[in-house]
Amino acid sequence: MYKKLTNILIDINSVLFPRVCFGCNDHLIRGEETLCTVCRNNLPLTDYTFNEENPVDRIFYGRINIEKASSFLFFIEKGIVQQVIHNLKYRNQEHIGDFLGDWYGQQLLENHELKNTIDLVIPVPLHFKKLRKRGYNQVSKFAQKLAFYLKAEYVDNLLVKTSNTKTQTRKSRVGRWQQEKSLYKLQDPSRVNNKRILLVDDVITTGGTMEICAQALSKGTNTTIYIASMAVVPKTGN
Ligand SMILES: [Zn+2]
Repeated sequence: MYKKLTNILIDINSVLFPRVCFGCNDHLIRGEETLCTVCRNNLPLTDYTFNEENPVDRIFYGRINIEKASSFLFFIEKGIVQQVIHNLKYRNQEHIGDFLGDWYGQQLLENHELKNTIDLVIPVPLHFKKLRKRGYNQVSKFAQKLAFYLKAEYVDNLLVKTSNTKTQTRKSRVGRWQQEKSLYKLQDPSRVNNKRILLVDDVITTGGTMEICAQALSKGTNTTIYIASMAVVPKTGN
């Protein structure tokens, strides 16, 4: 009886304050959280692992010395993942990071990927002005969840973004890289000595941001870098 009453109240509440799916904007029904069942079933999981070589690894070949890279989802224009990440970044829905991190963290745990491998989990930082404006780093919750499942330490004060300069896309690749190099700074290189680090971002497109951050992290001695993201833009031909 009590349970029935609770359910009725939940239903009344959902009529008054309808909760919507962050993937498709449809109303969520009782028992659904964050994403509706249809969106959950259609979420484009990469099934990339940290064991076998995958297309995310190949993005970084010849650019930066990393141990392994992987992404949880495919980012497809106008798709569910784009909607979800847009809500996470621009609509104050920070909790979506928990949702994605729980899912991916459990997947890594079940497949014993990165088991006893990672010491520190570091999110790609925002410039403090952007952080103040948004109120949160959209990568934090996701990275914290991964740290939890991997039994690693979450550290967000080592790598900092020192400038808010936009990427100069018209410059040559070398020129651009040199210009961006100074954008991220490692505060205390000794803290990453002999550490295995998982660097985490939201979406990998060209891998430019990850490359610069990994470059900053490799200022440590004997530092090993792994890369993970919520999503990757699939390259045609992969
Ligand atoms: Zn949906």
